[in-house]
Amino acid sequence: MPLNSFCIENGGIVITNPNAPTTKYISIKSLKRIVEYNIESVVIIDEAYIDFGGESLIGFVNNYPNLLIIQTLSKSRSLAGLRVGFAFGHKDLIEGLNRIKNSINSYTIDSIALAGAKASFEDETYFQSVRLKIMDTREKTVPLLRELKFIILESKANFLFVSHTKINAKIIFNKLRKYGILVRYFDKPRINNFLRISIGTNEEMKMLIKRLEQIILEMETEI
Ligand SMILES: *Cc1c(COP(=O)(O)O)cnc(C)c1O
Repeated sequence: MPLNSFCIENGGIVITNPNAPTTKYISIKSLKRIVEYNIESVVIIDEAYIDFGGESLIGFVNNYPNLLIIQTLSKSRSLAGLRVGFAFGHKDLIEGLNRIKNSINSYTIDSIALAGAKASFEDETYFQSVRLKIMDTREKTVPLLRELKFIILESKANFLFVSHTKINAKIIFNKLRKYGILVRYFDKPRINNFLRISIGTNEEMKMLIKRLEQIILEMETEI
């Protein structure tokens, strides 16, 4: 999306960076321009996927009173289901969030989940190994898909957004499903010829590639 789209009158801005499902990543420099331009609005940057190769804007929250960064433990910290996330922002924004929380539900996170979240941040080695492994598998998968004539958007997330040069995404989606391989397909304008493929283990990605080869071969012989 052109950055100008964020430089018009608005009641607040939420940007997921890297984006889902497109994987598109906006640089710190461009985000800062958006935050600066919209100094009268709250700008929320959802960094759910930031640990897979992007650069966080957390270091800049003290520079901008209108910037709120949110992250989750559900992705890079492998703790989906724990339901813990966190926000970094100017103290006035955080104070506002706390006020709402305390007037609605003061105990939004149970103490066991909090203990688990804390343990995750204490085990830096495990965190690093998981996120590096996913990025490594992602980078190994890209050239294999390219060889099969897929166009792949540059990804800094734990998934890829791909489009085949000849075969319609919905057809590939349905054929993969018959093999028990689930990817995401969105029947929406502009992205209805793309597939969102999560990065699994190396073995799972090998299986995916093998099935894609088979599907493409079948389709080509049909044509
Ligand atoms: C996963 C995700 C979240 C947070 O998910 P929770 O499991 O509710 O913490 C937020 N934003 C995006 C874009 C996500 O993909």
